[in-house]
Amino acid sequence: MKKPVVPGEKLGLSEEYIGQAGTYEEDGTIFAGRAGTAIIDDSERTVRVETGEPEPGPPRKGDLVVGMVAMTRSSMAMVEIMHCINNPRTIITEDYATLHISKISGEYHKDFSNAVAPGDIVKAIVIEDEPAVRIKLNAPDLGVIKSTCAFCGQVMERKDRGFYCKICDKSVKRKVAELKTGPEAKADQ
Ligand SMILES: [Zn+2]
Repeated sequence: MKKPVVPGEKLGLSEEYIGQAGTYEEDGTIFAGRAGTAIIDDSERTVRVETGEPEPGPPRKGDLVVGMVAMTRSSMAMVEIMHCINNPRTIITEDYATLHISKISGEYHKDFSNAVAPGDIVKAIVIEDEPAVRIKLNAPDLGVIKSTCAFCGQVMERKDRGFYCKICDKSVKRKVAELKTGPEAKADQ
């Protein structure tokens, strides 16, 4: 059952229900601790109050995140999550998210050399949050959004399917995030 509630509204008895997020208990009664929608689950015997706002917490499955590639191994890259685009209240931990080589693009990659490199900033989607955060890049708008030159440290320009350092006159290939979609993007290629 769902119903709108105000703080202090009685939701049930603690011998019948387990009070969860957004509730408090006093003398055996569970009350709403905040305004929102009370979710009373009679099969689970739980009650909680949801506000509709994203809850603070670690990155969750489906989140769109920005991170920095910390290191690459043979089939796995470690990415430090810096920001969650869809939920600014996401709590960023120091744990690395992992990117498996099969989640870079639809194409086969034997290693990460033409896909991502340490220091690259990537836009990714969380595909798993338990027991550890795993991300993917295999969608057109996901991939590397910023890359610095390994030789001079300068931020490189986007070029074709990668980046170009005009100081060193060197190009690198990457799994880049497409900025535009639709006919306009096709005209650029
Ligand atoms: Zn350079």
